[in-house]
Amino acid sequence: MSEPSPAESPAAMALHFTELTLQLAELLLHEMHRFAALHRMDIVHLRALLFLDRANRYSNTLAGLTDYLGLTKGTVSKSVALLEQAGHLRRTPDSQDRRVQHLSLTASGEDVVQRLLTHLRLGDIARCMGMPQAEQATQMLRHVLSTCQRLNQRRAFGICQGCRHHQRTPMGGFCGLTQQPLDDDQSQRLCREFASPWLEVLES
Ligand code: SF4
Repeated sequence: MSEPSPAESPAAMALHFTELTLQLAELLLHEMHRFAALHRMDIVHLRALLFLDRANRYSNTLAGLTDYLGLTKGTVSKSVALLEQAGHLRRTPDSQDRRVQHLSLTASGEDVVQRLLTHLRLGDIARCMGMPQAEQATQMLRHVLSTCQRLNQRRAFGICQGCRHHQRTPMGGFCGLTQQPLDDDQSQRLCREFASPWLEVLES
């Protein structure tokens, strides 16, 4: 068997992979900034709304948002206050622990997120790819993101149903970490306690 050409070598592949990933990240960030400028919004506020639209009940709090954004608690508190004033966010006390407040989007916040997602057009790209390519691309991106988060000591914030604590029972989903049931909606959301089932491979 012949040696792989330079373009197919592992080093060239790693370089192409890095270039493409960086270009994609830069393009999406640029479009987020463009959308923010068009709508006179702060990009941190957009990131907060995007996250809170997808966060589960263990994560849609000030602490969860602070972890996700990687900013100081003071900065995130101010952003939340401004988003509340603008009518995009509301706070709801937890039904069991009144000290905990959940942050959720109002109809106006949901409208911002919907318009941002339409602007980014990633959903259109996935639909054009069709199955199973879109599914494979999603798996690959999940793998890359989880690995980067782990290597950079950032929380994973993965989708609950892919977590190693997620269990399926005859009654529905169940979280092995919190020992609480999970309905289908919560199982589809982002969680700050997410633990990837395969990341031990990286550490071994
Ligand atoms: S199963 Fe994992 S991701 Fe889901 S709620 Fe529990 S800790 Fe979070």
